[in-house]
Amino acid sequence: MSPDKQDLDAFRREVRAWFEKNRPADPGFLLPQSFMEVGTDEQFYFLRDWQRKVYDAGYLGMAWPKEYGGGGKSQTLQDIATREMVRQKVPFMTNTIGLNWAGPLILNMGSEDQKNAYIKGILNAEDIWCQGFSEPDNGSDLGNAQLRAEPDGKEFVLNGSKIWTSLGKHAKYMILLARTNLAATNKYEGLSFFLIPMKIAGIDVVPIRKLTGEFGFNQTFFADARISESCLIGQEGGGWQVAMATLAFERGAVGGQAGGHSMMSKEVSEVVRLARAAQRNGHPAIEDPVIRDRLVQLIMEERSLALNSARARIKPLVAERPGSIDMSSKLAGSEYQRRLNQFALSLQGANAAYYVGDKNAYERGQWQRSYFNSFSATIGGGTSEIQHNIIGERVLGLPKS
Ligand SMILES: Cc1cc2nc3c(=O)[nH]c(=O)nc-3n(C[C@H](O)[C@H](O)[C@H](O)COP(=O)(O)OP(=O)(O)OC[C@H]3O[C@@H](n4cnc5c(N)ncnc54)[C@H](O)[C@@H]3O)c2cc1C
Repeated sequence: MSPDKQDLDAFRREVRAWFEKNRPADPGFLLPQSFMEVGTDEQFYFLRDWQRKVYDAGYLGMAWPKEYGGGGKSQTLQDIATREMVRQKVPFMTNTIGLNWAGPLILNMGSEDQKNAYIKGILNAEDIWCQGFSEPDNGSDLGNAQLRAEPDGKEFVLNGSKIWTSLGKHAKYMILLARTNLAATNKYEGLSFFLIPMKIAGIDVVPIRKLTGEFGFNQTFFADARISESCLIGQEGGGWQVAMATLAFERGAVGGQAGGHSMMSKEVSEVVRLARAAQRNGHPAIEDPVIRDRLVQLIMEERSLALNSARARIKPLVAERPGSIDMSSKLAGSEYQRRLNQFALSLQGANAAYYVGDKNAYERGQWQRSYFNSFSATIGGGTSEIQHNIIGERVLGLPKS
């Protein structure tokens, strides 16, 4: 039976109080803004302990089956808990790949053994997951992935490289798309999908420095790394279908994620604060009609993004184009964040050039860092151009070319 309004209100109060009481103190070092920017060990361990605490309190994986470590409760309760995490701006959940796409994938397509082996460790952050999709020459063109997984008895032998592996340095497992059949006439049919251990001979993870000067993603090299055939998820040769199911979870196009947030997004109210403090022609910038106009547009956009995600859950409202909101939410949300950060920088005038670490930087340079980082979500998980293509073809029914 789904909870009634009184139950939901009581639950909201409970969650609110818990996060107010338990939010971790400022660690005294710079925290990453999203799971894609977890670079140092101190950042990682701090965030891992936090996720563990949230899970132990019962506010993560609330709607996942109880027998594997989930809460066995309603999705509505999880949504309330997640919204409260966002509202209170508590640190994000670091095991995002596990919580939001590897986990739902395993629950949907994994064997009983795989569910028993992996789900609880995803929720309590004991086992961090990373994703091996992109390759140096094949990112958007995922179907062309070339990393080899050659069958050898009851094993596969991995050779090649994956790139931009977020969390790779700290991950215990990877979801991996690899080529098992070089002779397949259709490139998609030569692919298989694996759940692989990262800490084995033949796998080497090399960090890549980002625009911000920080780390977070890596290049992962495979040289004769041997994995058991039990690492396969789905059929050998059926990897493309599994990869598409994974991407649907990753982009939020289907539900089933464990909940929790994966990044510290900026809000327009913070930019309004900035516009009050910044000067334009000797007056507070917020008094400038052009700036006010931009702010109002951003406020409307932020509001419509929030209302859209609520609307997506009310079936009659989306019956005409099912999935349209879910399929556009990554594109709309990530591009909004990029524009919001860009506008925040423009308010700082020439001072926008000061970066983190410079005593002249406004609010310790957090907007500059946030602007650079805001590009991450417009690229990772499929670029905005690719998202436009998907919406054009699958929602609007436009031809492929
Ligand atoms: C912060 C961050 C974290 C990431 N984390 C991971 C990770 O953990 N695991 C992982 O596997 N990958 C990860 N990625 C990689 C990401 O998925 C790829 O960067 C992305 O899919 C684009 O691939 P690419 O970089 O090879 O660019 P390309 O595919 O070479 O694209 C270059 C440009 O061409 C455009 N383009 C390409 N094809 C088309 C087309 N058909 N139509 C229109 N435009 C097109 C693209 O939009 C882009 O602007 C991450 C990326 C970032 C930025």
